[in-house]
Amino acid sequence: GFGGGADMGERQPLPSDAVIISSNENPLGPAQSALSAICTTAALGGRYHQEETMKTIAVFNEQFGLKRGYSALFPGSGGPLDLALMSNIGPDKPLVYADPSYEQGPRAADTMNAPKFPVKLTADYKHDVKAMLAAHPSPGAYYIVNPNNPTGTMTPKADILWLIKNKPKGSVVIVDEAYHHFSNDESVIDQVAADQDVIVLRTFSKIYGMAGIRAGFAVARPDLLMKFSSVAAPARSLASISITSSAGARASLQDKDLVALRRKINTDTRNDTLEFLTKKGYKIVPGSQANMFMVDVQRPGTDFKNSMLKENVAIGRSWPAMPNYVRVTVGTPDEMKKFQTAFVKCMDQTHT
Ligand code: PLP
Repeated sequence: GFGGGADMGERQPLPSDAVIISSNENPLGPAQSALSAICTTAALGGRYHQEETMKTIAVFNEQFGLKRGYSALFPGSGGPLDLALMSNIGPDKPLVYADPSYEQGPRAADTMNAPKFPVKLTADYKHDVKAMLAAHPSPGAYYIVNPNNPTGTMTPKADILWLIKNKPKGSVVIVDEAYHHFSNDESVIDQVAADQDVIVLRTFSKIYGMAGIRAGFAVARPDLLMKFSSVAAPARSLASISITSSAGARASLQDKDLVALRRKINTDTRNDTLEFLTKKGYKIVPGSQANMFMVDVQRPGTDFKNSMLKENVAIGRSWPAMPNYVRVTVGTPDEMKKFQTAFVKCMDQTHT
């Protein structure tokens, strides 16, 4: 239904002291620079101020070497992700995507009555681009999430470039870079600048901690962005974001040390947690370069998630392809200590 966030599922009301590591949010929230910009800008909120949005788009384009018209600013990336998917798939234009991966791909395919071609991740949890290419002779779109949600694992840029080069004419490669900033790998936004059939999604919900403020970019050739209007008329009105969101996004982009600092905080906390779990003998999905990881709970993940909830720790869901694994978001060091205690307790509980 309507309402709720992009990755939330149905989140139950939780006690105020609950550890919430279920929806890949950033426990640090917006940066101080973003908060200041948001406050200052709120006072100007009586006017439409389209130039506010234009400024943010100009900063983004400059940072990524994009020409005018190659990016659009939206309230979050989930909306433009739907538009990117839906404007390129349909009954005779299938969607090829990875399994397990972010469910918005197959959900959009259902909406559009587009045939679905899920392709298993490789043994080391990369998108299997060779198998994706072999899945169908003429898909409408390939959907790649990099780093992947829920595994946090990376698909090498070289593999994505291979797919772009070898894919059939008329299909697009949609690369969801929601978690890109947490990794050390290169973006494929340069492929958009090079006029390839590529649509990249970026969000301010993750490393920038603005999930509730809402800002995100669709990056693509102007003709591919124009096509968004074929599924939502007019798509431009969806791109009308509040001036506070725009100002917060721009301040975040211009905050020079922010990404590196937050990437390090996330990496350290994630690695500490994974080291703890590994030492205790639990099996994890290795190689996460994002603010999430998966762990084997040796029982249906949904049951385990409910046990953890009783310990006041809200963890993420499981995926049909990996039913005994749960996804856990990286919280603060203190939150991850509470997670560890609750995790060991719940794992020690007998289950049937
Ligand atoms: N793409 C992926 C892979 C996500 O995990 C999410 C949210 O969790 C989104 C897109 C959409 O997020 P938002 O609309 O907040 O940018």
